[in-house]
Amino acid sequence: MSKKEKLDCKEYENCEGNFKYRDNPKKVHDRLKCGNKRFQADKLEHPNEGKKRRKDTAKNGQKPFAIVLSCADSRVVPELVFDTGLGDLFVIRVAGNIANVSSIASIEYAVAVLGCKYILVLGHEACGAVKEANDVVKTGKPAPSDNLNQLVGHIIPAINNCNCKSSTGKAPSTQDLINANAIHSAKELIRCSTIINEAVTNSGVKIHTGYYHLKSGEVEFDKKSKC
Ligand SMILES: [Zn+2]
Repeated sequence: MSKKEKLDCKEYENCEGNFKYRDNPKKVHDRLKCGNKRFQADKLEHPNEGKKRRKDTAKNGQKPFAIVLSCADSRVVPELVFDTGLGDLFVIRVAGNIANVSSIASIEYAVAVLGCKYILVLGHEACGAVKEANDVVKTGKPAPSDNLNQLVGHIIPAINNCNCKSSTGKAPSTQDLINANAIHSAKELIRCSTIINEAVTNSGVKIHTGYYHLKSGEVEFDKKSKC
């Protein structure tokens, strides 16, 4: 986070019930940042996890305040990372946080039907899917199954783009590739979906990317890729 940026988390404490600013992507962004700060400090509030919330969401339906497209890695759990509970996040998890037909369709539902205004594509440190895709590119050998090849096929364009842009001639770092992959997925959501594209263009929906650090628990938002 830049030093100029002020983040007052008071407003985002005790977030029981539906997040009242779910139509305001800036406030959603700050809510996620504040939840992540609590997570890093081991000061989770565990909102919206109990009987009351189950009853409320069963009766009144879900009004998640953010969509998160995350990797399936067991160390990256969006609901915990942002200190959220039931009905708060609409999470799609797939190895490599790729934008494929299923993840895009799920996001379309959350945007068009549930009215979410905020999408986060969450990559993470040491992502096995990105490493696998990079191995396929480097060695020219396919991944061990057709299904895995389908999956890494969504990541490879980001890696190729990274390699092409590497001005130093040095291979990009894994972290750069992971960032590039999250940015690529975010762009694919817009390119491959009329619903998401129009929501971003006309309805104020915002798409952000994140990079999760396994040890500290920090999510860095909108990290630039060096490639
Ligand atoms: Zn991963």
